[in-house]
Amino acid sequence: MNFNELKIESRLLQGIADRGYKEMTAVQEQSLAVTLQGKDVAVQSQTGTGKTAAFLITLFEHMLHNSAPNGKKALIIVPTRELAVQIEKEAKLLNRHMGFAIGSFYGGVGYDRQLALLKKGSDIVIGTPGRLLDLSARGHLKLRNIEILVIDEADRLFDMGFFPDIKKLLREMPPRSARQNMLFSATLNRISRKIAFEHFNHPVSIEVTPEQLTVDKIIQELYHVKSHLKMNLMLGILKAQAPQNALIFTNMRHSAFRLSKKLQLNGFRSQHLTGDLPQNQRLRVIDNFMAGKFAILVATDVAARGLQIDDLEMVINYDIPQDCENYVHRIGRTARAGNSGKAISLASEGTANHLKAIESFIGMKIPVPAMGFDLFATDMSEGLRIAKTLRNNESKNNRANFSSKNKPRNGRGFNQGHVRRNWNSRFSNS
Ligand code: ADP
Ligand code: MG
Repeated sequence: MNFNELKIESRLLQGIADRGYKEMTAVQEQSLAVTLQGKDVAVQSQTGTGKTAAFLITLFEHMLHNSAPNGKKALIIVPTRELAVQIEKEAKLLNRHMGFAIGSFYGGVGYDRQLALLKKGSDIVIGTPGRLLDLSARGHLKLRNIEILVIDEADRLFDMGFFPDIKKLLREMPPRSARQNMLFSATLNRISRKIAFEHFNHPVSIEVTPEQLTVDKIIQELYHVKSHLKMNLMLGILKAQAPQNALIFTNMRHSAFRLSKKLQLNGFRSQHLTGDLPQNQRLRVIDNFMAGKFAILVATDVAARGLQIDDLEMVINYDIPQDCENYVHRIGRTARAGNSGKAISLASEGTANHLKAIESFIGMKIPVPAMGFDLFATDMSEGLRIAKTLRNNESKNNRANFSSKNKPRNGRGFNQGHVRRNWNSRFSNS
């Protein structure tokens, strides 16, 4: 169904058209049919299926009709600042012809900019629970005015222990009958259902079944490899397939860090994203990756939560995840909104035993392609000590990676000339 068939204001339709959306995704069609009537929902649908626009369109349409100037506000609660920033971007794009004030509010940064935004009056507030509570406690954010509420990525919010904070936020809002409430999540766990049941108005439950959505658009490949050869195989795959960009997952923080360093030593422009990075650095890494300033991001599941990258060509499970849902979350980062994508998994001694559960969860065997010795590449970082102290040089390395003289010359996102330099600098420094 086309967006034009929705009975919504033309200014909003124009914003949707400018954004380039024509056909609704399944979750958009099913949710909007209910939410545009003002009803509450609890929606389950896989990552990458377009949930953001589903609630933003509802919220804009509601505000266009019900909001007096200085009147009621919309609140979107999200687990991470990255997600807050992404939703803010999407909202601002759709808002193009409407002129609502939209702001995102999260911890780890100063208050000045956020307070100024609130003073000016934000119609749509997007924020993480801690900062929202904080702003409310200081009297800057008036939760009494919230007329439409979205809880996005509810499963993540509750995984991350935000349940008590959400309860507190809900207590400060008007009674549920005075709000429209929407909850969105990739999985509807027990706590999400409980929140919706106890704090929403008879929410309609919408579940878009996962199998039609996620894995079938993604080309999956599985390689069995001894762990000491994993790096060689991955380098070989990266060289042979030369993706524009790739997101690599490891199960542990320290392996994400090491792997990214090893990739750098092999001439790839890579960075790591782990939970222990300071927030502003995390944001910078994500922004730079999205902007294509480097080709490979190595992340852990926790750090990559809520991370959404359009046009991601490849996901690599350097480690097979322990949790089968994480497998789906990970590979779902590619092939978003109809793009095709590839997900490659490397199974070795330590992690192959997770495969059985994953394959039964996704309802298929992951194809195992033929693999010759030529697929293994030399690892230039072998034998080099990658100490955590390398982090001190990190900003220096990063700058080298981004500098224009190191721009890829083959147009494929990788820097062939970087290896030598790295070796040279390594040895001349030591
Ligand atoms: P989710 O929240 O379900 O993980 P998003 O809302 O982030 O998914 O949307 C995933 C991607 O799909 C985004 O890049 C978004 O711009 C795009 N998208 C959303 N709706 C549509 C649509 N109707 N047509 C085309 N692309 C869409
Ligand atoms: Mg989302």
